[in-house]
Amino acid sequence: MEKTFLMVKPDGVQRELIGEIVSRFEKKGFQLVGAKLMNVSNELAEQHYGEHKERPFFGELVEFITSGPVFAMVWQGENVIATARQMMGATNPSDAAPGTIRGDYGVTVGKNIIHGSDSPESAEREIGLFFNENELVDYSKLINKWVY
Ligand code: ADP
Ligand code: MG
Repeated sequence: MEKTFLMVKPDGVQRELIGEIVSRFEKKGFQLVGAKLMNVSNELAEQHYGEHKERPFFGELVEFITSGPVFAMVWQGENVIATARQMMGATNPSDAAPGTIRGDYGVTVGKNIIHGSDSPESAEREIGLFFNENELVDYSKLINKWVY
C-alpha cells in the first residue's frame, strides 16, 4: 500500500488545526500508520528541506519549521501521495482552491499549514527521516476492511 509523509506545520498546530486535518484524511478513507507531536531540530529541518537550500527563503523556512511543535504523520492508501497533495491545495494558499486545506485555512506561502511528500521517492525519504520502522503500525491483518 502506498504511503506518504504529511506534517501539520507549527502554524497549523498553534491554530489548533491538527484534529481538523487528521479528520479530513480519515474521512477520505486513508489509514494513519504513524503520528507524533515533536519539535524539529535544525539538522532535521535542513535535511528535510534540502532540495530548497539554494532558494532565498531557505533560512526563513528552516526557522519557521523549527519554531514550534509540528505533528508528523504517515498515511497510507491507494494513490495517497497525489491525492493528499490535492487535498492540501496549491503551495501558495492564495492560489489554493476552496475546499482544500491551504485554500480553507491559509493566507501566505510562508505559513501554509501543512507539508506533504510530492513523489514516491520523497515520501520514502521523508518517512525515513521522521520515523523509525517500529513507530509505524500494521493494518494488514484486520478482518473488517471497510474501504479496501
Ligand atoms: P510544497 O510544500 O507545496 O511542496 P515547495 O516544496 O515548493 O512546496 O516549498 C516548500 C515550502 O517552502 C512551502 O510549503 C512553503 O512553506 C515554503 N515556500 C515555498 N515557496 C516560498 C516562497 N516563495 N516564499 C516563502 N516560502 C516559500
Ligand atoms: Mg515540497
